[in-house]
Formats: sequence, structure tokens, C-alpha cells
Amino acid sequence: MTNAPTPSRTDQVIAATERWAAHNYHPLPVVLATGDGAWVTDVEGRRFLDCLAGYSAVNFGHGNPRLLRVAHEQFDRLTLTSRAFYNDQLGDFAQALTALTGKDMCLPMNSGAEAVETALKVARKWGYRTRGIPEGAATIIVMEGNFHGRTTTIVSFSDDKVAHDEYGPYTPGFVTVPYGDADALAAALQTNEFTVAVLVEPIQGEGGVVIPPEGYLRRVRKLCSGANALMMADEIQSGLARTGETFACDHEGVVPDVYILGKALGGGIMPLSAIACDHEIMDVITPGSHGSTFGGNPFACAIGTEVCAMLETGEFQAAARERGAQLAAGLEPLLGAGLTAYRQRGLWAGLDLDPTVGTGRELCERLVAHGILAKDTHGSTIRLAPPLVATSEDIELLLGAVSAGLADMTGSGVSV
Ligand SMILES: *Cc1c(COP(=O)(O)O)cnc(C)c1O
Repeated sequence: MTNAPTPSRTDQVIAATERWAAHNYHPLPVVLATGDGAWVTDVEGRRFLDCLAGYSAVNFGHGNPRLLRVAHEQFDRLTLTSRAFYNDQLGDFAQALTALTGKDMCLPMNSGAEAVETALKVARKWGYRTRGIPEGAATIIVMEGNFHGRTTTIVSFSDDKVAHDEYGPYTPGFVTVPYGDADALAAALQTNEFTVAVLVEPIQGEGGVVIPPEGYLRRVRKLCSGANALMMADEIQSGLARTGETFACDHEGVVPDVYILGKALGGGIMPLSAIACDHEIMDVITPGSHGSTFGGNPFACAIGTEVCAMLETGEFQAAARERGAQLAAGLEPLLGAGLTAYRQRGLWAGLDLDPTVGTGRELCERLVAHGILAKDTHGSTIRLAPPLVATSEDIELLLGAVSAGLADMTGSGVSV
């Protein structure tokens, strides 16, 4: 008989996950069990401020009471019908989402990638139908550093090698231009006369919260109109209050032809995505030409309707602005003290670490010890996106932890 110590619950869960689930992620060694607002608790009872918020799917916080009430109610009534029949939730959801976006119609799907795929399909069909482009010749312009999801078509135009390589043959019909460079886009539109759409993230989230130069989105809007190409804004991560406005495009007063939404649309409860556009565009979709078994299901729609209602009041947008300003003010003194740069819009920030100090992953590991969960992206960048229900005390705590984490790494006593 040996007396090997019993592994902790954390170690047991990690071992099981690594043994039986594919290794397509490299999680921090924390096993979460419950959530409440901006906070989550692990199986050992340790509490953490959730500064990833499910990649902004949890903008409204864990266990948001308004969303839970609606979800419980619908859960007990009806969850899935398929679109072979009408259900009593989709109409209300579609009306609420079109009111929020100012568009005529929407098309519901589930994951964000499915909404992006929907936008790509609609754009191509719209080009063939309305512009007389020869079948198979449509071009869609995309941006360097983009992230739009994981399907084979979407990774075909990703320049992230890990996401892209060895998944060919790749879908043709995409042209890539530098992000934030309107002149490059103008040139690409000149040389590609069959461009039906430009697909752009108003802020590149996975890219590291990359904010394009002021005026860029307005120029993209003008260039698309001039070329009779659709401006398609992927607001899956940037939209729904994260940046302090309902949509990140609002910061430049820009209205795209197609909004692509997901993540927070399902309230962190259900996968719910959609595109929204005017009927001249959406009318290319006819019965049988596109669909989804789960898309438009009453459970997700009931939650989505409540999400839209919560966004109509502007309270979450205001919270993102206030907490974001507080975050930026606290990050400023850390420049030169472990941080080389930060970018912030609303309650969303990308922090670039001085590479001599360490990697983003290393900082995230330190932050765990200080009660903060955050995620690195692209080597020396980390992203902070707490739920929009975070309090000013929560943000103070976050800033203190970042400062302490950097101090651990630089061996200096930086403090804010
Ligand atoms: C997360 C994300 C997607 C993909 O959404 P999934 O639900 O993971 O398929 C697409 N575009 C952007 C900008 C995203 O952040």
C-alpha cells in the first residue's frame, strides 16, 4: 500500500480534460465551477475577476438575473422547433434586433462563424443577382490580422499560420489588404472590379484589440459605396456595448450594409448569432438557399430579445465608457514599467508587454495568483474585457493586480 497524496479536484479535472478532450486550447490551470456577475469561483473555492468574459459573450455578467428569468421561463415552455414551423419567439427577436441595428431584416444562426459564413454567402449571391457579376468571379476583400472564426472558408483567408496551415485546399475568392490602410483598400477595389463586399472588424479583438486610425471606418464606408460593394462589419466581439457604444462602428458614425453579430447576443447562455441588413440585400435568400437546424430556436431567441431590450436603455454602453476610462487612467502609469503600449476602447483593452519582461502567457499566469483571469493573444499582448457589470472597485482590483503582476516579472516595486 502506498500513501500517494490524493490529487486535488483541480488536478483531477485537468487530467481528465487533457486525457479525453482534444488539445485545441491551452487553458490556464484553473477549474471554474460557478459564476456571479463579473466573478467566477473555482472548484477549490478561489474567486477570480473574469477579465475575458467568454471573449465578450458574457458582457452582461454571469447569471444575469434578467436573462436567467427569461431563460428559465422559455426553457420550461419550448426550446427547439426547427424552422420547418414558426415559433412564437423568433418574430419578436427579429423585430428587436432590427430595431437595435436599424436594419430591415435579420437572419439568425448560432455560432459567430456561421454568421460570418452567412454574410459571405449573401454578399456573393447579392453580387451575382444585382450586379451581373459572372458566376464564380466574386471577390471579397478582407483584412490582415483578421479573426472571423474557424470554418474552412474562413481560415482560408486567415493570416494566422496556426489557424490556417494544413487545412487546404483553401476557398478562393478573397483578397487581403492591410488593416487600417484605406489607401490600400482603395487600390484593391480598383484592381478587383468584381468585389462584392469588404469584410472588416471595426476593432480587431483577437488581433490584440487593434483600433484602426480615426476616420478609417468612414473611408471604408465611402469606398464601399463608391465601388457598389457591401461593407460588412464583423461586430461579433466589438458590438453590443463592449466599446461604450452599441456598435464599434458608432464611434465613427458609420453604418455598415451588413452587421455580423454573435457572442453577447446570446447573453452568455446560448450560442446566438445573426446578420442584419436591409431587404434589398437579404431578399437574395430564398427558402432552401440557407438554413440551420438550431438557428432561430425559441430558447435562444427569447434570450436574444431580452439582450436587445437591455441594450436599448444604454446603461451597459455607459458602464463600458465609465469603467473603460478608469481602466485607461490606471494603465497609463504602467507604460515604461513593463508595458510598452496599451489600446483601449470602452471596457476593452489590449496591453503590450515589454518582451524583455516576459510573455503575455506569463503575465496571465501571474494574474491568476492575484485573482484575475485574463487571456494572452499573439505572444506579448494580453486582453482585458471584464463583464460590463464590473464595479469601479473591481477595476481598481484589476489595476492593482496588473501592476503587481508586472512588478513580480520585472522584479521592481511598481505600484499604481
Ligand atoms: C469570436 C469571433 C468570431 C467567431 O465566433 P464563434 O462563435 O467562435 O464562431 C468571429 N468574428 C469575431 C470578430 C470574433 O471575435
